[in-house]
This record gives sequence, structure tokens and C-alpha cells, in this order.
Amino acid sequence: MMHNSINMDHHWLPFTNNKLFHKEPQIFARAEGVRYWTPEGNEILDGASGLFCCPAGHGRREIADAVHAQLLELDYSPHFQRAAPVSFALAERLAAILPDGIDRVFFGSSGSEAVDSAMKIAIAYHRAKGDAQRTRFVSRSWAYHGVNLGGTSLAGMVGNRREYSGITCDVVHMRHTWNEDQRFTRGQPETGAELAEDLADLCRTYGGETIAAVFVEPIAGSIGTIVPPVGYLKRLREIADENGILLIFDEVITGFGRTGSAFASQEFAVTPDIITMAKALTNGSVPMSAVAVKTEIQQAVLDAITADRPELMHGYTYSAHPVACAAALATLDIYEKDGLFARSKALSQTFLDGVFGLRNLPQVADLRGYGMMSGIQLKPGSVPGEKGSIIQRLLFKEGLHLKATGDALIFAPAFVSSEKDIGRMLEVLQKVLGRADH
Ligand code: PMP
Repeated sequence: MMHNSINMDHHWLPFTNNKLFHKEPQIFARAEGVRYWTPEGNEILDGASGLFCCPAGHGRREIADAVHAQLLELDYSPHFQRAAPVSFALAERLAAILPDGIDRVFFGSSGSEAVDSAMKIAIAYHRAKGDAQRTRFVSRSWAYHGVNLGGTSLAGMVGNRREYSGITCDVVHMRHTWNEDQRFTRGQPETGAELAEDLADLCRTYGGETIAAVFVEPIAGSIGTIVPPVGYLKRLREIADENGILLIFDEVITGFGRTGSAFASQEFAVTPDIITMAKALTNGSVPMSAVAVKTEIQQAVLDAITADRPELMHGYTYSAHPVACAAALATLDIYEKDGLFARSKALSQTFLDGVFGLRNLPQVADLRGYGMMSGIQLKPGSVPGEKGSIIQRLLFKEGLHLKATGDALIFAPAFVSSEKDIGRMLEVLQKVLGRADH
């Protein structure tokens, strides 16, 4: 199958209907700022920061230069019994912007790796404390925590778990926090904090002493932006503490300014024990993720081992890859120099005004949003998910890239977008969602 001299026969695309894609390819050949271009030269506005990855915009020369220099300085170093200066520098930089007390950092290459690593660290911590029976995890309906086996087990978007159910680990699920009364709520819903009691119920049912950790995305991202009700995260924190359970915030999407603060933990003033991050860590430029843990979590694991062997039987060939570290350091420089977290907070007012202005369009069933992330729930067609897929293809044709998830659209532009860019994105949405006939 050829498309513009590209042979598409051999690459099996992830999370894609490959047959449909071959009929109607959507290909990005080039990117700069908040724009992509197709091989034919059509301009596509990036309304999803790639995939929540590129808040500083595409093609940042500072990152390219840092990557180039690092490749020539030290292109690769293993990190089993070896290290490179650049990874220590990055861990120190991250510790400075993370919530107080969360300052020990393990590196991987993807959000999925971060999630599975966090699960293993939680188990290692409990073992170190003599609590080896804590092997169960709690997650939430509609959650997305990546696709490795740990993340697949945690999955609350059930399509991602169902097909692999025989091989997953022991995870029990709380309910998600969305309900009908919250429709068209901008920011945090006032009602629904009582859903945190699901964690207490699961502790009663399974025994709190069997549970290692509870995973939550502070704002559920992949399902289309579900914002936590006021008081919900705080109550989860309390119940986790009462039961000796670690609270893990998966900030793969919410990290690095998406909510207006460096991390959603700070935005919502609830400090977890562990934070996972990826995506915007390198502005999407080089694959990288991290797991940041409280000082005492690492300390307990280190102290439990007296023999000369690794404390954590876990690590990746590409953990703390020097080139990824260099890209991350250059990215953090940009965030700081350009004040992009503050820019995210300031721009979010205009952005959310625009999003909630779509309320009366015929295709819109619900709108949700916080900071620079929003979800547009579409009125479904006869087959679930089909409307989302149709609309995202129409938007692409009209020059706007958004991510469809089921019958919702994820709209989360880069923080460097101008008000004019956001206005142009909204015009395309008005046009496509304003028609009743798709
Ligand atoms: N956790 C969350 C909250 C995510 O949104 C994602 C990716 N969308 C992941 C984990 C997995 O990240 P990756 O695709 O890099 O493995």
C-alpha cells in the first residue's frame, strides 16, 4: 500500500485500525510550533500537544542542540553499576520542582515503564518494612496507566484489559468520579468526594493490609478529562494513610504545568507518596519517564539490604539514557526561562472560555476542563466510539489534530499557543461540531 511514495505495508501501527488507516492515512511529515504539516503540505493545528507531550511547541532548537551535543559527548551509558553525570543533574532538577519530600527519582523510557516500575517500588517498600503480604493494587474505573502488564492490570478503560485478563495482576477497582449532575462543569465538580469511600470499602472487603498502593490520575486524561471533585483526592490520602497504603499519582499527563502548577499534586494540594511522569518531561522529543518517590520510601528499601546486591531487582537498558536526560534538562530550562507553567495558568482562562462556548453545538453532550486540558463528549452514534472516530477524521481534514477516545475528544493545546491559535482551533471545532448530520 503506497501513499505519497511511502510504503505502508510493514509498520503495524499501535492502537490503530490499520486497514482503515491505509484507506485514509493521516500522516504528519513535519512540525513547528503548534503546527503539523502533512506530506502534501496541508497545515494541521496541534490541539493535543501531540499526545499531551509537547507543551513548549514542536521543533525547539534548544532541545535539538542539547541532544546533538550529548550524542557527541556521551551517547550511551549503562546504569547498572555505572552512571553518567547528566542523570544526577536531571534528578536534582526534578527534585527541585516536585512536591516537598518527593525527591528520589528512578528513570525509564515510557509512561508504561514508569507505572510498572512504581508498582515494583511499592512492593519493594512494603517488603522492606516486613509487609510482604501487600501485593494487591487499587485502581479506578476509566483509568489509563499504560499498557505494560502492570498498567494493563490497573486499566479502568476496560477494552485495554479485557483481552489480556488471564495474565494480569491482582487489581481491584474503585468507581470513576463522573456523574450526570456534573455535565458542563468547568473546573472541579462540587459533588462526588464521597466516591473516595470506595477505597475504604475495598479495604474492608479485601483487607487493607493486603493492598500495596492505590493508583490515580489526579485528572483522568485518556478517557477525556475527568476532573476530581473538590475534596476527593484529600479523602483518598486520608484513607490510604489509615490503611498503610501508598498513594501513587500517575502524572504522565498532568505533570509539567498542564494544570497550571508543575504537578497536579501541588495544584490540588495533596501530596502522594509516589509520582509517575513522562511525555512533557522531554517535551515529547526523546522517550523518557520517571518515578519520583518520597525520601523515606527509597531509604527503607536501601536500608533493608545489607549484602552487596541491588536493592531493587529492576531496571532498563535505557534507564536514564544520557540523550533523554539532556533533552529533559533542556526542556526544563525552556519551561523555566519562558515561564511556561505560569503561561499555562494564564492561557487556561481564554482556553476554557472557548471550550465552554461550544456548549450548545448539536454534537456536544458534555464538556469538562481544567487548566490546559479539556474533554468534549460527543453525542454518540449507533456504534459506541464510531462518532469519535468520524469526528476526529473530519477535524483532521479541516486542519485540526485532536485525540479521540471513544466518543470523546481530547483538546489540550501547547502552552505556547497564541490566543489566535486557540481561536482558530475553536473555529474548526465550531464548524465540525456545529453540523448535526454526521
Ligand atoms: N499513564 C498515564 C496517565 C497516561 O496518560 C499514559 C499515556 N497516555 C501512560 C501512563 C502510558 O504512557 P506511555 O504511552 O508513554 O507508555
